[in-house]
Amino acid sequence: MNDSVCRDFQQTVEQYLIRHQSILDILSKTQETNARINRAVTKSVTQCGCIQIKGKKNALPDSASLMDMKALLSTHIEGKLCEHCQDIIEQELGKNLFYLAGLCNALGLNLEEVLKNENNKVKTLRIFNLT
Ligand SMILES: [Zn+2]
Repeated sequence: MNDSVCRDFQQTVEQYLIRHQSILDILSKTQETNARINRAVTKSVTQCGCIQIKGKKNALPDSASLMDMKALLSTHIEGKLCEHCQDIIEQELGKNLFYLAGLCNALGLNLEEVLKNENNKVKTLRIFNLT
């Protein structure tokens, strides 16, 4: 997300977040939209079937370093999201971002700064950014 899109989005949310201005509403909507993302991904597996989850223990050789993990560890996802599922998941992600921006507004935080700081932290810590 470039700077102007992020700033513009936060200002748009500031203008149009009306029904859920209470911090309590924003917190619960953030959690609800996160659950809806999980539900949309789950439905891609269980109802559409465009992706499958083949979960199993990620076995790592004893000699594997942190640098090796990216190549050795699996996401457990097989297949590719169809256009319909991708559209729904993107919509749910957008709603989640809406309430995250609303949370920033309510607390006087700058979403762009949050993103920049996190990006810098990840770039600095690289693979050691294990959260
Ligand atoms: Zn699908």
